[in-house]
Amino acid sequence: MQEAKFYKKLDNLTVVCELCRHFCTIADQQTGICQVRKNINGELFSLVYGYPAALNVDPIEKKPLFHFQPGSLSYSLGTLGCNFKCANCQNWDISQAKNTTSLNLPLSRGTSLVEPEKIVSEALINDCSSISYTYNEPTIFAEYALEIMKLARAKNLKNVWVTNGYMSDSCLEAILPYLDAVNVDLKSFDENFYLKNCRAKLRPVLENLKTLKKSGVHLEITTLIIPGLSDDYEMLKSLAEFIVNELGDDVPWHLAKFSPAVSWKLKKAPPTSEEKIFEACDIGKNASLKYVYAGNIPGDERENTYCPACHELAISRFGYEIERFDNHGRCAYCDKNLDIFE
Ligand code: SF4
Repeated sequence: MQEAKFYKKLDNLTVVCELCRHFCTIADQQTGICQVRKNINGELFSLVYGYPAALNVDPIEKKPLFHFQPGSLSYSLGTLGCNFKCANCQNWDISQAKNTTSLNLPLSRGTSLVEPEKIVSEALINDCSSISYTYNEPTIFAEYALEIMKLARAKNLKNVWVTNGYMSDSCLEAILPYLDAVNVDLKSFDENFYLKNCRAKLRPVLENLKTLKKSGVHLEITTLIIPGLSDDYEMLKSLAEFIVNELGDDVPWHLAKFSPAVSWKLKKAPPTSEEKIFEACDIGKNASLKYVYAGNIPGDERENTYCPACHELAISRFGYEIERFDNHGRCAYCDKNLDIFE
């Protein structure tokens, strides 16, 4: 087990974890909300350092990132645990791995320790141009991610986080020098949704989004449209306006369909209709966002990138397959910059 980096010691063998915005106070022999950071005799340990629960070579489009190295492969890893408790979670078998003692610590799912060097060498062997920290919330395995990120940078690999955006300032400060791209899950613009559905708060996510954008990291945003929970017209309008006004009209916005069958606790909820996704796309377009994408509707034109100036097709997509008609990130017809990081 690896001692954690982001915490401070209090009296009586108690510690405060300073890795995410929950700032859990953790008594001796207890874990924080994410269940993978444990106080052992007054010192905080990461239970997942070096123990990925999932390792895959993914298309970058799967993150989803549509304007970052389009068509490239990203070596992707995640561990157990999460600092959110989203009822709709689709990776709940790893993110909500419960009761750490029943999993035979360390939380490795039977794998042996995977050193950061091994992750980087596997990424290179598999022709990946980036490493993605994804599947569960990377914040909760930040010490492991950071070691990999430093090595990846030295080998000219990019670093990508797919995150709920709930990291603390100190976590953000530590990762920003090595972070190239991020997809933040902005789940709703309603504080109550965050409180009830995720057991977290909206405001810190909005603050971190602004910091990420200001820092120059490539930013894309995903919103899962859950019928009756995160599909309200006015809420989505406010969310789209926040992106335009506070982050910029060049930030791509992905609207994703909800699937109850694979969700953690919403198995009886209805799936998202295509009409709802299309309505949300219109909200984004009407708010003047340049790049709005329908997710999980293969073959629909709303998965393509069109030039925001002359509206010609720049990148067509079918699932994770893409075909490019742009000229190195510029429109082949009118030369407009398409905000693509190559
Ligand atoms: S990472 Fe967040 S949820 Fe986990 S122990 Fe630290 S403050 Fe709590």
